Amino acid sequence: MNASQHDPERILIFEPHPDDVAFQIGGSVAKWVSQGREVFVCTVTNGSSSTFNPAVTREQITETLMAEHVRALSRLGVDADHYIQWDYDDCCVDPGATHTDLRPRMMELIRRIRPVTVVTLDPTHNMMDENPDHRATALCAFESAALAATHTLYPGQLSQDVQPHFVSRVLFYMSEFPTVFVNIEGAPLDAKLAAGLEYASQLELLATDARRRLAGLGAHLPLFDMPPGDIWRMMCRQIAEDMAAECVAWDPARDIQFAEGLRMQYLGIVDKIKDFLDIPESLRLD
Ligand SMILES: [Zn+2]
Repeated sequence: MNASQHDPERILIFEPHPDDVAFQIGGSVAKWVSQGREVFVCTVTNGSSSTFNPAVTREQITETLMAEHVRALSRLGVDADHYIQWDYDDCCVDPGATHTDLRPRMMELIRRIRPVTVVTLDPTHNMMDENPDHRATALCAFESAALAATHTLYPGQLSQDVQPHFVSRVLFYMSEFPTVFVNIEGAPLDAKLAAGLEYASQLELLATDARRRLAGLGAHLPLFDMPPGDIWRMMCRQIAEDMAAECVAWDPARDIQFAEGLRMQYLGIVDKIKDFLDIPESLRLD
């Protein structure tokens, strides 16, 4: 791979679980792929805890979810050769022990793929996030993107194919403070809806989760009595409409009906001078 290649832009996305990318930024991924960008997805865990059904074993849910995940990524245009599946057990990544394992592994992948942009969850959200895999992936991918350029870190992994690499920027999803609003109207939204529907096991899990926790509060929402696929269609569109409204409030010049929001952070000294940058149109992601 050519380190100086910027066209099509190469993007590496980290996700903790085999559904985070599709549910959170599936429209953006579909759009970026359709624009000719080279999008890689690295999935950290295997989904082995993603069921509330006592009749389903961890092996069974892992097998089910892996198959759903491959179909969903295909719906977004991400081919098997751009999808990297790691083998950490679901909900078992230790956010306090990532520097000896997860960080060097992420850094090696960044040094191998050499993306201009790394995408991960927003670590500013970490204190409110109950899931350890989310917290570990958010912080570790951010650190790895920034530090992959430093040859004194993990020098044992350097070789002809694995060289220090300067990532230029990080885009964060699941952010409270989006600054990049991707217009997903049309085909990208359709692809996101279709990708989400592939995760039948996870749509069932989300509906069960909502029903059971609401029941503990003596509450009941008819929404969660609907077939899980219908809940997804409704929520997917509603969230995209809400994000578009947030975009227009932020930038009234944008004419946008369905959006996904991410936060952009440039790395190193570039973040200090970002207001003076004239980013070429080909590198815009919205
Ligand atoms: Zn997740």
